[in-house]
Amino acid sequence: MKQTELLIGGKEQAAVSGDYFDVLAPATEQRLGRAARAGKVDVELAVAAAQQGFAEWSSLAPAKREACLLKAAELVEQQGQERLLDLLIDESGSTISKARNEIRYTVDLLRTAAGEARRLYGQTFPNDHPGRLSMVLREPLGVVAVVSPYNAPLALLCKMVAFPLAAGNAVVIKPSEETPMIAIAFGKILLEAGLPPEAISILTGFGAECGAPLIDHEQVHCIALTGSTLTGQKVGASAAKRMVRTQLELGGKSAVLVLRDVDPVKAAAIVAQGIFTHSGQICMANSRAVVEDAVFDAFVAALKQHTTQLVLGDLRDEASCYGPLIHRQALHKVQQHVAAAIDAGASLLTGGQVQQGLVYQPTVLLHTPSDCSAWREELFGPVLSVVRARDLADGIAKVNDSDYALSSAVLTKNIHWAMQAARQIKAGSVHIGMHAFQSNALAPIGGSKLSGVGRSGGAYSTAEFTELKWISMELEESL
Ligand code: NAD
Repeated sequence: MKQTELLIGGKEQAAVSGDYFDVLAPATEQRLGRAARAGKVDVELAVAAAQQGFAEWSSLAPAKREACLLKAAELVEQQGQERLLDLLIDESGSTISKARNEIRYTVDLLRTAAGEARRLYGQTFPNDHPGRLSMVLREPLGVVAVVSPYNAPLALLCKMVAFPLAAGNAVVIKPSEETPMIAIAFGKILLEAGLPPEAISILTGFGAECGAPLIDHEQVHCIALTGSTLTGQKVGASAAKRMVRTQLELGGKSAVLVLRDVDPVKAAAIVAQGIFTHSGQICMANSRAVVEDAVFDAFVAALKQHTTQLVLGDLRDEASCYGPLIHRQALHKVQQHVAAAIDAGASLLTGGQVQQGLVYQPTVLLHTPSDCSAWREELFGPVLSVVRARDLADGIAKVNDSDYALSSAVLTKNIHWAMQAARQIKAGSVHIGMHAFQSNALAPIGGSKLSGVGRSGGAYSTAEFTELKWISMELEESL
C-alpha cells in the first residue's frame, strides 16, 4: 500500500497527530493508499518554515529561480511518462490522454513561469516637482497559501505554485484531499530541482482541518484558491477580514453558441469534446449549448450520433474518452440534477444512466428550463443542456443568462457575428471556432461573477503574486 507523509520544510514527516486518511482510486473505488492528515499544529510548522524559505528564496538572483523552475520542467517531462502518469490515472481517474495533456501543460507552465522570474519589471514616471524621481518596484508578497482542487491535480497545482515561486514568494500548499499523492510527488520534484527546502511545504488533509487554519494564518500574505464557488466564498470572506490578497479561480457554467452557418456534424464533435473531456470535471467545460434555430435539428441529430459512439471505460485505453467521476457524492449530485431537469420539462436526448462504477454516461438534455439547476448550477459531470436561439441577439442573451462568467465559445464562420458575440458575451474568455475548454500558460485565465476574482497565467500571475511599491527621491541634496 502506498503511503505519503507531509512535506514540511523539505522533510517528509507524519502529521503531529499521527493520523492518516484513505485515498481511493475512482476507477475501482478501492483504497489506493493513505496520506498524512494535517491539522492546525502542522500548519504552524509549515508557515514557520515558509517564512525562512521566503527570506532565502526571494534573495536569490532571478537567474537561479529561473534555473530551478526549468530543471523542474525537465524532471516533470522525464518522470511524466511513468510515475506522474500512473498517479494521474489511478488517483484522479484521468484517461491516459488527459493525463498526458496535463503533464505537457505542467511542463509548459513551469517553463513559462521560469521566464517570468526575470520579468519583475518596475517603472519610472514623471514628477511634477522638478528634481524628483519617482519609481515603482515590484516585490514578492511573502508566504502564499495555495489551495487546489482534484480535477487537474498536477497542472492546476503547478499553475498556482510556479508563478508565485518565480516572483520570489514561498508557498504552503493544501492540495485536494482526493489527490494528495500527486501533490507530494510534484513537491519532491521541485526540491530535486533545487528549490530551497523551506520555500515549499505541502499539507495533505481536509479543508476544515488544515485548509481553514492555513488561510487564516497571520503570516500568510496571499491566498491562491482553485476550487468551488462555495469554498471561494468562505475563503474570500475570511481573507477580507485580514485584508489579504486573494486569487480565486472558481466554478463555471460555460456556454457555447452555435450559429446557423456551421457544419452541424463538426460543431457537434467540438461541443461534445468541450463538455465530455474528463467526464465534464473541468471548470471551463461548456455545459450549456445555445443553438440557432436554423441548425438546431441537424446539430441535435449529429450530437446524438456522436455521443453514443464515445468509448468509456478503461483509463489506460488510448481510445477511452473519459472515465469515472471522482467519488460517489459527485455521482449522486449529477443524478439528482438530471432528474430534477427532466421533472422540470427537459427531455433526455441520450445518456442519463450509470455505465459502471462511478462512470456516468455522456448525457444530453434538450430544452432545459432556464430556472432549473441543470442550467444554473455547476454539475461538474458529463451533462450538456442544449437550448434553441431565435437569432444572434437571442443566443447571446441566453449565453449571458448565468451567474457564472468563466469561459465561453462561439461556433461560426462569419467574423462579424463572431466578433459581435465575443464583445457582448460576459465571460473571462471567448473562444471562436473551438470549444470553451482551452488552456495557454500565457493567457489571463479566470472569470468574474461567481467564477471568481483575478487572472492567472504568464505576466498576469506575476502581477497577482507581487506588490507594487512607489519610491520617490529628491535628486538634489535636500537635507
Ligand atoms: P472544493 O472547493 O471542494 O475544494 C478545493 C480545495 O479547497 C480543496 O483542497 C479543499 O480541501 C479546500 N477547501 C475546502 N474547504 C475549505 C476551507 N473552508 N478553507 C480552506 N480550504 C478549503 O473544489 P473541488 O471539488 O476540489 O474542485 C472542483 C471545483 O473547482 C469546481 O467547482 C471547479 O469548477 C473548480 N475549478 C475551478 C478552476 C478555475 O480555474 N476556475 C479550475 C479547476 C477547478
